[in-house]
Amino acid sequence: KKRNPHEKEFHQAVEEVATSVMPWYLDHAAYREAAILERVTEPDRIVIFRVTWETDDGSVRANRAWRVQFNHVLGPYKGGLRFHSSVTQSVLKFLGFEQIFKNSLTGLPMGGAKGGSNFNPKGKSDREVMRFCQSMMIELHRHIGENTDVPAGDIGVGSREISYLFGQYMRLENIWSGAMTGKGQDYGGSALRTEATGWGCVYFLERMLQNVDEELVGKRVAVSGSGNVALYAAEKAIEKGAKVISLSDSNGTVEIDSGLDRQQLEFVKELKEKRRGRISEFANEYKGVKFHKGVSPWGLKCDIALPCATQNELDGQDAQTLIDNGVMAVCEGANMPTTPEAADALRNHHIIHAPGKASNAGGVAVSGLEQSQNSMRISWSREEVDERLQKIMQAIHKRCVDYGTKDGKVNYTDGANIAGFKKVADAMISYGVV
Ligand code: NDP
Repeated sequence: KKRNPHEKEFHQAVEEVATSVMPWYLDHAAYREAAILERVTEPDRIVIFRVTWETDDGSVRANRAWRVQFNHVLGPYKGGLRFHSSVTQSVLKFLGFEQIFKNSLTGLPMGGAKGGSNFNPKGKSDREVMRFCQSMMIELHRHIGENTDVPAGDIGVGSREISYLFGQYMRLENIWSGAMTGKGQDYGGSALRTEATGWGCVYFLERMLQNVDEELVGKRVAVSGSGNVALYAAEKAIEKGAKVISLSDSNGTVEIDSGLDRQQLEFVKELKEKRRGRISEFANEYKGVKFHKGVSPWGLKCDIALPCATQNELDGQDAQTLIDNGVMAVCEGANMPTTPEAADALRNHHIIHAPGKASNAGGVAVSGLEQSQNSMRISWSREEVDERLQKIMQAIHKRCVDYGTKDGKVNYTDGANIAGFKKVADAMISYGVV
């Protein structure tokens, strides 16, 4: 904390991993002697730069951008870019740190990184977003490449932004390579990348439930967020026979007591992905859908909670409400959506709880598959990618069970942290003191 003052989110992420791995770390002299924990918590490098751009009416704006290249012992740096006014170095360091272990868990050759800017794309025109992306790439292109660092999307960075960024990358480098993932499917993107994080999260949830002889059919599922992860988690949960009873955005929550149907989901996709509207408009359109202004979905009675919006969106009080209402599982679609108090409450009440680094790894896994397809100049069908995604999520679940089972119960946080950490630590030891 002395070395990284004021980096609250980064401290939280390191503390969570350190708490899980410490007993195991102390048991292994080789890791201690190589000072793995000290080394792995220090990023390889952070690039910080100014992005200057022009609004449609000709005003000049300046934002700050970062690329945190955290650790590349397992492969080229890989991790998304986030555009949101709340982005700080601490947020990107927490995300980059988590990404190291998430990528390790996928079994694919990817190191950990994250980047982004405090630029807020809300209310900006397409042209303004394009000018911002082009200006950002003028600096970023020097630091990325298919064998160096491969950025992708995250909050505020979807296929529109990836396309503008990649277009500028090609212009500057005069090269077409898989230097970014999340591209449109007809021009280098992978089938199912859009769906991968949400679908993968539900595949993981299914495994967790199977492990305690439960199933998803008929369960009431509360989903937060209405972005990329939330919408496709909802889609797969509906397909598996669950009842999705909520979605949300930063203005509030919509409650669908009878369960979201496919036609409503298509409406929300169009509303959010094309019109960039607010979730309250969904409630205006359909009878039986209620909008609760300024609140999260965690007050609704549900069997399963899927937090899919942002970090620390589910606190100790929310966890207690969920527990009082009989929740059986919390499966994270977002990165670090539960506060430490919430995680403690869930653990103390033996609620099954999957950390994002395991349950939302489907997105980066399909990004890894996009890199492979780009290198081989081929593209796999939706069915082929889906089959690989399901196998990867099953393998991650197995790693969590193998490393996190104690007295017959699985602690998914410990399992994910230890399994992810071990591979990185072993690679760091074999590469010597570098
Ligand atoms: P999007 O930008 O598509 O959607 C984010 C959603 O969360 C929106 O509904 C947004 O509402 C809401 N949200 C964001 N910030 C807040 C906030 N401070 N308070 C309340 N609601 C908020 O992002 P993604 O769906 O891509 O990402 C969601 C989470 O999943 C993030 O934690 C991300 O890191 C993680 N993740 C994403 C992956 C991916 O493949 N996209 C992969 C792995 C993890 P509003 O529109 O009002 O801001």
